[in-house]
Amino acid sequence: MPELPEVETVRRGLAPHVEGARIVSVTQRRADLRFPFPERFAERLAGRRIAALSRRAKYLLWHVDAPQGGEPDALISHLGMSGSFRVVPDSGDGITPGAFAHARGIAGPHDHLDMELQGEDGRRTHVIYNDPRRFGFMLMTPEAGLATHKLISGIGIEPLGNAFGPDTLARLFDGKAAPLKAALLDQSLVCGLGNIYVCEALWQAGLSPFAPAGRIGTQQGRGPHPAVRLAEAVRDVLNRAIEAGGSTLRDHRQTDGQLGYFQHSFHVYGREGEPCRRRARSGRMCRGVIARTVQSGRSTFHCPICQR
Ligand SMILES: [Zn+2]
Repeated sequence: MPELPEVETVRRGLAPHVEGARIVSVTQRRADLRFPFPERFAERLAGRRIAALSRRAKYLLWHVDAPQGGEPDALISHLGMSGSFRVVPDSGDGITPGAFAHARGIAGPHDHLDMELQGEDGRRTHVIYNDPRRFGFMLMTPEAGLATHKLISGIGIEPLGNAFGPDTLARLFDGKAAPLKAALLDQSLVCGLGNIYVCEALWQAGLSPFAPAGRIGTQQGRGPHPAVRLAEAVRDVLNRAIEAGGSTLRDHRQTDGQLGYFQHSFHVYGREGEPCRRRARSGRMCRGVIARTVQSGRSTFHCPICQR
């Protein structure tokens, strides 16, 4: 399941190719993904311009200019478990290596949607959505109703947005007896944080996944305030993952035009039974061993020694 950094990486990779581009045509090869495609989807998009590509939580938001006499729309897309977009230059471009790897007309079995775009420079590209497991989806809503759309309206604050910080976190978690991990996974409080990054952020902040969430607003012992450590750790973990994804993305595009996910090493996630990697100021390594616990049906990885 792609998490926020993967989706942000996909957005950053796609944006230069789609923002400002006109949709020449849309080839839709199935009636549905996880949900049916919007009615007359291809027909409604053809000829319109993509003004911007943004992200809210794990949704990619394609802001599409109004058709003649109509209203601007937002296309809400979700990658599900296995969705990916790839950008393929039109044949005849012949500049980007890999242009021939996805020759026109030879669609893979899981290429469900093919948007032909014309950039502001006149060059044509295909943006192809591939999704073997089809848990992804695309919906359309008038841009004016986007903020109140049922998928969007209840979403918590963006961890990479300006509103996110120690004060907000302390306020959101104030009085909550739920475990810190559960509070961080609660999408109505902070959005887009999945299991992997929550485990990593809690380790980096040195906070126990099992501590009551309300406790981060209170100072305990010396050192930086827990809310400060947690807010920094969340942003840091996400930003490092996005940077790692960015480099993977560039490598990918050089070889086969693929835009997708990346893998990188984690400090605690998936490291059950391995030594903790925290080095104390004294230079000594933490003597903890990473433990795996099932918490609300999901694996929590943490160090019982240094996460308090
Ligand atoms: Zn440790």
